[in-house]
Order: sequence, then structure tokens, then C-alpha cells
Amino acid sequence: MMEKDRITPAEGKTDIASLYEPEIRDLLSEAGEPAYRAGQIYKWIHEKRAVSFDEMTNIPASLRGKLKATAWLPDPAAAARQISKTDGTQKFAFRMRDGQIIESVFMPYKHGNSVCVSSQAGCRMGCHFCASTIGGLIRNLTASEILAQVYSIERITEERVSNVVVMGTGEPLDNYEQVVRFIRIMSDEAAGGISQRAITVSTCGLVPMIDRLAEEKLQITLALSLHAPEDALRRTMMPVAHRYTIAETIAACDRYFDATGRRVSYEYALIAGVNDTPESADRLIRLLAGKNCHVNLIPVNPVRERNYRRSSRAHAEDFKIRLEKSGINATIRRGMGADIDSACGQLRRRFQEKA
Ligand code: SAH
Repeated sequence: MMEKDRITPAEGKTDIASLYEPEIRDLLSEAGEPAYRAGQIYKWIHEKRAVSFDEMTNIPASLRGKLKATAWLPDPAAAARQISKTDGTQKFAFRMRDGQIIESVFMPYKHGNSVCVSSQAGCRMGCHFCASTIGGLIRNLTASEILAQVYSIERITEERVSNVVVMGTGEPLDNYEQVVRFIRIMSDEAAGGISQRAITVSTCGLVPMIDRLAEEKLQITLALSLHAPEDALRRTMMPVAHRYTIAETIAACDRYFDATGRRVSYEYALIAGVNDTPESADRLIRLLAGKNCHVNLIPVNPVRERNYRRSSRAHAEDFKIRLEKSGINATIRRGMGADIDSACGQLRRRFQEKA
């Protein structure tokens, strides 16, 4: 077993909020409890968003006592909350049971509220422009800890969340089992209640895991963090590019599209003078021409520890127009929360610096 798998947030107790309903049923039947209690407990945790067993008023006190002694529910404490004055973006730092700080972001849009969740405490992918990777990977988050980010934000903001993006700290496909559990429970009508089509998982491109995800036949959107149109440049930005070529990575995305019918989104962080030239745009066009895909251009968020500069608005527009003229769908991501620590992992970093 790998180091990161060994660290669990509550040693010895069952992580009941990460379990599917039939698994809770099995657990209860081993304890001699009636099967129908599983549905009640599952509903309390996910539909009613209970954070303690005491809230489960239709569960007999004796069973509640047993649950308290043997299982845990995540109840992340909000260690910090920043609200953008310009666009209403809210950034949260949550403290996990073992003290780990993780970040989540609430983004209000005209078409509904979106939450960006973290999938790991830290990250081991090492992308040079990303603050989340600076302290390395601490541990995987459990499905329940990923769900709790959405549930807690809904509770704190008193807003409904209609979209979830797994684009916070961590590489979701490096925490595959828990992320798939998260997606299935989040999208279960009897649980999280957010449709799979409203869930996006972003990956730096772990090719075998993209193929595995395609086999799950989920209706989620896959976002691929491409960021460079040629291998040599991508290798200077993202260590994962040493493992898989761009051609192999895009081929895996094509297979994902074939298996699911879901259009793939390509993320491209625009860095001044690095990957935002017309030549880069033309290379990107050659890679993606004729594909049913979408390119999301993100003016890079400057990270204090890194010296990348973001492309100017005019450069970003030129880049986008070039893609569109070649029939490639592109949008420039609205820079949200610029007045709060908006770049991935920056709020969490502040806690690490204090520690
Ligand atoms: N590990 C996953 C998901 C987390 S990062 C992935 O790589 O996709 C979410 C997105 O933010 C990725 O596209 C990532 O490359 C991008 N990102 C990271 N740091 C950034 C920064 N400083 N500016 C803009 N985008 C950044």
C-alpha cells in the first residue's frame, strides 16, 4: 500500500458517508440491524445533509449510539472564508478531522451556482504554474470529504449548487476510487442530486485512468489540462508530459468521447510569451481540428512562488479568434475572484506558511 493510502482521517472508524447504500445495508446486516435502516441513514447523510448521527431522529437511539461509536461523518470546519467584492466568488478553506486544510470555491453564475472542489490534500503532479503542488501530496481525500465541501458550502451560503467542477487542489484521477464514488453519490437523485452532466472532472492527463473513466460510462464532462501544443514545451510546464505525449493524451480523450458521447474540454492557461503566440494557436488548431471539443482559455493566475505572467486581454482575444476561425469552439474563462486568493492552492498555502 502506498503512503498516501494509509493516512485516513479517522483511524479505525467507518467512513460511512463514502459508502453506497447497498454497502451501508451490508454493514447493518452484519450488526443485526434491519436493511431498511440503510436507506434512512443514506438519506440523512446525503439528502438531508446531516452532519451528526444525533440529527437522525427516525433512527433508534441505540443504533445512533452504535453508529457514533463505529462510524464518522465529515463535518469540515470553515477555517477561512473570503468573499470577492467584485463578482461574488467565495473561497473557503476547510479544516479536516486530521488538521489538513483544503480549499473549495463557490462561483455564482447567471445559469446557476458552481462549486469547485479539491480531490486531494496537496498534489504530486508538479505542474510548474500551480500553487497546489508546492508542498507535494499529503493524502487523498475520501469521497465523503469531497461531498462535504459541496454540502458545507450549500449550508453556509444558503444557496443551491447546480454545477460541480473537480478542479481544486489535487489530481482527481490520482485518487480514482474516491473520486468515482464522489461522482456516483453526488449525482444520485436520492443523494447529492446534481446531474452527471453538471459535473466536470479535470485531469492533467493520466492516460490509463482516462480510459478507465471512459469505461464507467458516466455522463460527466472530462476536462484535459493541455496548456501547450507541443511536447517539448509541455514538458517544461508539466512533469506528466514526460510520461505521456500530447498525441497519446488526445487519443485517450477521443476514446472518452467515443465511449460516452461527451464533448471533451481542453484547458489552456495562457502564459505571456510562453504559449500564447499565434504559432502556438496554429499548433493547437492542428491538434484539435475537426474534433467535437471545447477550448477553455484561462489567463494564468500569477502565483507568488512562480514567475509566470498572464497574457494580456488582447493576446487572449487574438488567440481565441484564431481558434474560432478554424472552427474550434473557445471561451476565455472569466477571471473570477481576482481580489481574493484565486489561483489554485493559494489560500491553502497561506495556512502552510503559518504552520
Ligand atoms: N489536477 C487537475 C485538476 C486541478 S487544477 C488538472 O490538472 O486538471 C485545475 C485547472 O487549473 C487545471 O487546468 C490546472 O492546470 C489549472 N491551473 C493550475 N494553476 C493555475 C494557474 N496558476 N493559473 C491558471 N490555471 C491554473
